[in-house]
Amino acid sequence: MAEIVLDGVDKVYAGGVKAVDGLDLEIRDGEFMVLVGPSGCGKSTALRMIAGLEEISGGSISIGERVVNDLAPKDRDIAMVFQNYALYPHMTVEQNLAFGLKLRGVSKEQRAQKVQEAAKMLGLEQFLSRKPAALSGGQRQRVAMGRAIVREPQAFLMDEPLSNLDAKLRVSMRASLSQLHERLKVTTVYVTHDQVEAMTLGDRVCVLREGRLQQVDTPQRLFDNP
Ligand code: ADP
Ligand code: ADP
Repeated sequence: MAEIVLDGVDKVYAGGVKAVDGLDLEIRDGEFMVLVGPSGCGKSTALRMIAGLEEISGGSISIGERVVNDLAPKDRDIAMVFQNYALYPHMTVEQNLAFGLKLRGVSKEQRAQKVQEAAKMLGLEQFLSRKPAALSGGQRQRVAMGRAIVREPQAFLMDEPLSNLDAKLRVSMRASLSQLHERLKVTTVYVTHDQVEAMTLGDRVCVLREGRLQQVDTPQRLFDNP
């Protein structure tokens, strides 16, 4: 687990669009921080800069003890979950969950144990031998989250992970995400344009507008002082 600190972070895209403008934000160790705001306000860009998928144009980002500005994504000790869960179609759920650990040289016994734990937390135990094509959208998204969990990263970064699910599933997945966070307490940065999602999931919510921080506070205080 780790604190994530953004210090005066800018992003100017080729062509001159200033997507993020002097963003200062401290995400505490173990906190669930939601980035919210209208389409185009810079949420994804901010998240992708934390992930290292997008270079920063100015300022600095640290994760835990380390300034990560020049670190590749794989060296940042983070796990990402996107809206289009990229599972390996030819592998079973179990193999999908174990794959990253295998690449990292984790022993077979340890892999089995971590996969079991993640599957249990996410209610995937009955599906371990299925291929992704034989899962529902919600189940696939659980597998994508499982792959993030087994990595035991310092932070989870999620970009609209529930937006492809129907309304009913979104509600149940929100509850699962909250429970998961309660249990694991991994520092999380979560991007959504959905205010209800922001208010129900966030320990704090950061409201962005045109690349700038407008407000950052607990859901309760934002609700009281909109
Ligand atoms: P959000 O996630 O809040 O919808 P984005 O971070 O995707 O916002 O986009 C912020 C701004 O940056 C928008 O004006 C968008 O058009 C622009 N933008 C995003 N990605 C790129 C890119 N790869 N190249 C140029 N402009 C981009
Ligand atoms: P997998 O993610 O399929 O389990 P790896 O963990 O070996 O495979 O991923 C190799 C690298 O690819 C990671 O170190 C990381 O940089 C990037 N990567 C893959 N999946 C993720 C993810 N969910 N979140 C963040 N980075 C990822």
